[in-house]
Amino acid sequence: MSSTSLTVSKANQTSITPRAAFPRARVCVDCRTLLGPKEACDGGPKHRVVSIETPTGRNALRTEVWGPPSVRRRAKQLAKAGGTSLGAGSIFEGCTGCSDCGTAALEGEFVVIVAVIALIAAAGVALYWIIAKIVEAIRAYQNRPRPNGGITKPPSLGRRAGPSGVVMGQTGMLAPATGTSCVAWSLDLRNKRFLGTDLMLHDAETSGFEVKLDDGTTLRVPGGRIRIEGPRERVDRSDASPVDEFVQTISHEDDPEDAGLDPFPFDTVDEIVVRPGDRVRVFGELEREADPAAPGGYRASNVLLVPKGVPALRVERQEDRK
Ligand SMILES: [Zn+2]
Repeated sequence: MSSTSLTVSKANQTSITPRAAFPRARVCVDCRTLLGPKEACDGGPKHRVVSIETPTGRNALRTEVWGPPSVRRRAKQLAKAGGTSLGAGSIFEGCTGCSDCGTAALEGEFVVIVAVIALIAAAGVALYWIIAKIVEAIRAYQNRPRPNGGITKPPSLGRRAGPSGVVMGQTGMLAPATGTSCVAWSLDLRNKRFLGTDLMLHDAETSGFEVKLDDGTTLRVPGGRIRIEGPRERVDRSDASPVDEFVQTISHEDDPEDAGLDPFPFDTVDEIVVRPGDRVRVFGELEREADPAAPGGYRASNVLLVPKGVPALRVERQEDRK
């Protein structure tokens, strides 16, 4: 049975999962958006971008997430120490000798009283030991290094709302977290925390698709990077192993001291998908382009619209997922 399911999943992968729509080479340390080679962040020139392909770039990112190397080392030492021990172990050990007390040549009620006292004492020691262990675990938890998310959110779609229409075409990719077949996806990797921002990585791509706009015009979205807003589905990290595997490929460890301090730590994934049939609104500037597939001149019916720059759209109504 296992060999059959393996064959099926392999067949699905080869037939439906394309190679990545763009190479992940850089990351914005301010909003944590993954970018292609030489790309600037959509958030503008104030967003600092570093390479994830060089030790220098990766160290700059780790410094944003976990603090400078000296802070990272101290945080790890504190977490390992787990606070000061309450010395419960030695008390516990000292008392194991008590079990022999009951074997002394004592009789009657006296034996019972001693046994009861010994039991109460043992229970007290056990309780003390349990509390000490809990306190130690809490201290280790409080001292653990805590990652910082991006200081700003990835840029929104902007104010330039354009036309809306319906997504056409065939699904060409699988969304990494939910495995939904789709034409585009977006991921936000988050790490729960009490204060501060929790977004550790933002990534989105499309295999390319067309939108039939309400006025009949066709908008062509080329394969590559994309910006999407819409209904999100939250997935636990343990249920999103393809995401985990992908993040491992971009999380090189340059210094053994940084073991366990991942540049993209996360526990949940928020995913947005775009599927054929979805109603979407397009944002940003659009350009006109002659449709190479249509015969004739540069007439309206033969003109395609294409986004200028990175395509941006909002999913306004979603088809039921199958
Ligand atoms: Zn940015």
